[in-house]
Amino acid sequence: MVSLFVISMPVRGEWVGDARPLMGTEVSVRLWHDDVATGEEIVEQVFAEVERIDQLMSTYKEDSKISEINRLAAQVPVVAGDELFQIIRRSLDISVLTLGAFDITYDSVGQHYDFRNRQRPDDATVEAEKQLIDYRLVELDQAAGTVSFKQDGVRINLGGIAKGYVVERGVSILRSRGIQNGIVTAGGDSRLLGDRRGQPWMVGIRDPRNDGQVAISVPLEDEAISTSGDYERYFEEGDTRYHHIIQPSTGEPAGGVHSATVFGPDAVLTDALSTSVFVMGVDQGLRLVATLPDYESIVIDADGRIFYSDGLQSPQ
Ligand code: ADP
Ligand code: MG
Repeated sequence: MVSLFVISMPVRGEWVGDARPLMGTEVSVRLWHDDVATGEEIVEQVFAEVERIDQLMSTYKEDSKISEINRLAAQVPVVAGDELFQIIRRSLDISVLTLGAFDITYDSVGQHYDFRNRQRPDDATVEAEKQLIDYRLVELDQAAGTVSFKQDGVRINLGGIAKGYVVERGVSILRSRGIQNGIVTAGGDSRLLGDRRGQPWMVGIRDPRNDGQVAISVPLEDEAISTSGDYERYFEEGDTRYHHIIQPSTGEPAGGVHSATVFGPDAVLTDALSTSVFVMGVDQGLRLVATLPDYESIVIDADGRIFYSDGLQSPQ
């Protein structure tokens, strides 16, 4: 029988990939290719792209373009370059969409945190610096391609959107090289290409309070998924957990939610939205996602309860 013959044929091809510490997290690439050497070369190409974008967008690098903007844009308009200009513009659009929950100017306060060394801004610093959290203080000149700040002390940080951009760019490289099945992950952000050869990819949402445990597995194909959690970067003082997602209205770490996951077609948006839903909380966050066709969300609140957006069936 023909079908038996097909099943007994050796499969041509292999999964190839790697994982590396980059962008303050782990970045991984996996793809299916029938020639391992070519597959590995494509993996390298994706990592080179990740490093290029990090060099452009990291505030931790003194010589990055974004650091130059943060140093100068309150004095003179700074030419950002097309790519950075576009991502800043998208960030500001998402601030409008999320009523200010997503705000790349959070960094006037955010810069005073050092999670590894358990450092946080004191109350007076938060009080002063939170006045400078306002995306409307960032001015873009489309014709000149420049960014300027309307006040001294404004700073921007793309930590809530850059990893989504990286995985989106990574997958477009895979696509341009003819790959049909692959996954690119940067920390809590993944972009999937095709399926896992006959089965959906299973992407785990971490149990926010049990390291290494998965709370929910989501089957996905050809989609992006992002999770923002209060367990990624944090330290504790007494009962208070100081983590990396800032509520722009207070300048303090956002409360009420342990993790927010968003999935949909575009990783740039799922990344920014997972941060936004985290800040907005269960009700407001899920209401926002309900207005966006093709996007869904799963939120775990501070009591460990799990909430699903309307388009999802909660598992039995
Ligand atoms: P991660 O994958 O690192 O958990 P998230 O998508 O959860 O990233 O984004 C968290 C990061 O976003 C923070 O580390 C910080 O750089 C940035 N950030 C924090 N608060 C905000 C905010 N209100 N709006 C936009 N970006 C933020
Ligand atoms: Mg995010």
